[in-house]
Amino acid sequence: MSKTLFEKIIAREIPATIVYEDELCLAFKDINPCAPLHTLLVPKKPLIQLSHATAEDQAMLGHLMLTATKVAALEGLGDAYRLVVNNGAKAGMSVAHLHLHIIGGRPLKWPPA
Ligand code: AMP
Repeated sequence: MSKTLFEKIIAREIPATIVYEDELCLAFKDINPCAPLHTLLVPKKPLIQLSHATAEDQAMLGHLMLTATKVAALEGLGDAYRLVVNNGAKAGMSVAHLHLHIIGGRPLKWPPA
């Protein structure tokens, strides 16, 4: 199967502004930010979407949540940020590789949709 866009970013085959990396995940600036700060956090494991996760992914998913807080702090968002996970094309997912949007830098309205 061909690599997803995010696998290519993880492999440094296409450029991105990387802000954090560890053994399980990578965070980089969204190319089309919807807020002053908009960063994507992706697992290195090419899981298509959240609903495809299994019990085997539990530790990795927990790691992503904890790392999102770390990345938000690195990005200067402090405690004021929103995490978004689009699951499937009908929910707005355009890249088939699980990713958390970390969004902030301005007051965020609710509901988001
Ligand atoms: P989603 O619509 O939830 O699948 O989110 C995909 C996100 O990837 C969008 O917010 C895009 O702006 C972002 N994106 C697409 N291509 C790139 C890229 N080359 N580098 C960084 N972000 C990207």
